[in-house]
Amino acid sequence: MQHMKIFNTMTRQKEEFIPMKEGEYRIYVCGPTVYNYIHMGNARPVCVFDTLRRYLEYRGNRVLYVSNITDIHDKIIKKANEEGTTYDVIAHRYEEEYFKDCRGLNVEPATAYPRATEHIDEIQSIISDLIAKGFAYPTSNGDVYFRTRKDPHYGQLSHQPLEDLESGARIAVGEIKEDPLDFAVWKGSKPGEPAWDSPWGPGRPGWHIECSAMARRHLGKTIDLHCGGVDLVFPHHENEIAQSECANGCTFARYWMHNGFLNIDNRKMSKSLNNFFTVRDVAAEVGYEPIRFFLLSGHYRSPLNYTKEIVESCKASLERLYTCRDNLDFAIAHASGSGDALLEKANAARDKFIAAMDDDLNTADAIAALFELAREINTLSAESSKETLTAVAGIFDELAGVLGLLYNRGKDEIPQQVKDLAEQRAAARKAKDWAKADAIRDQLAEMGYVVEDTPSGPKIVKK
Ligand code: AMP
Ligand code: ZN
Repeated sequence: MQHMKIFNTMTRQKEEFIPMKEGEYRIYVCGPTVYNYIHMGNARPVCVFDTLRRYLEYRGNRVLYVSNITDIHDKIIKKANEEGTTYDVIAHRYEEEYFKDCRGLNVEPATAYPRATEHIDEIQSIISDLIAKGFAYPTSNGDVYFRTRKDPHYGQLSHQPLEDLESGARIAVGEIKEDPLDFAVWKGSKPGEPAWDSPWGPGRPGWHIECSAMARRHLGKTIDLHCGGVDLVFPHHENEIAQSECANGCTFARYWMHNGFLNIDNRKMSKSLNNFFTVRDVAAEVGYEPIRFFLLSGHYRSPLNYTKEIVESCKASLERLYTCRDNLDFAIAHASGSGDALLEKANAARDKFIAAMDDDLNTADAIAALFELAREINTLSAESSKETLTAVAGIFDELAGVLGLLYNRGKDEIPQQVKDLAEQRAAARKAKDWAKADAIRDQLAEMGYVVEDTPSGPKIVKK
């Protein structure tokens, strides 16, 4: 069995991506904290790892893909207080908005979208295990902390020795920790904050423990792959590993993948820097699909710089693919050639596409292979046979589908009324009734369509 290679953040090497169970991948992706619309940077892991999932499925695997919703967090509580409402109202609202964006970006629905607040039992059970094993301790103010120094492997993912971490570690006001390196797995609630009962008093989970609990509940103690943006390597993922491995006594995630930053003016796009563009706003200007194309146009580990112009150029690139695909349909309908050279070219493009994706999900090269195929189609379709063209259209759709692109085909299908008018115009021309033909042409133009007369007959194009 041949497997794709991925760059594993844990080993810092490209490795063959071999699942625990052949033909089945268990993947967990850290999802959004729902207190606002997602921005273009947040959409990067969403689109990149959806494409990984599509590719693994395309190669014949079953994928269990879990992406969580962080629906309790300081930022959600703050927003709720600002609006004079409760945290759950904010969380539900922005979860819905997140799903709208996911649909717009053609993201396949995850196997599960677990919410943190629906996993309080699992979270508390991990915390109890950690306390029982001496890896965590409750404090007098109702917090529970993880005893970082007790974990001999701490720092394994971020490749940081404890001494380096010590210099940056602080004890914040109100925290009662044994050691500045320790981190909260449970936070005792302050007055007016949402709280759940626990053996350590009313409180709410720390952020890191949520993912340990949701990954275990939905995918098991050991998962194949854990993904997220590179900003999550430390401390979020490092802490997830510490909690899960100390509680469960086994490897948490066998592989780790992290996407690079989406930047703006060479700085990370983020809500805290207030340099962000929401997916919703960009989509309102150019549509969703150019955003997906843009996010896949670079290698996922490289930084990607956002400008409005780049996304607009992505829209233009996509239009070239749409036009090519429409021309292919037209060529199939009017095929008179007998050539099959195009099929060979299409098979070669598919091989290139697969080689690129196998090499650490190189979507940039995969897109290049699709454009190469488009060029061959434009050059060779006139001389190709109907069978060849049909097979090539299948390959084109297959590759575009793996990238989750060209999903708006057929959405602006030519209405029947327009097709009827075009036929009446053709009949009028045949009868040399030029006045009538011109009148119908003008009527079509008013409706937003042009009829081009091609050697194979009239072709309707949306203006
Ligand atoms: P957050 O809601 O901030 O927890 O982020 C949700 C996901 O978006 C995480 O996987 C982050 O790593 C990722 N993310 C946030 N900002 C960026 C960015 N500028 N570029 C790439 N990924 C990002
Ligand atoms: Zn997480």
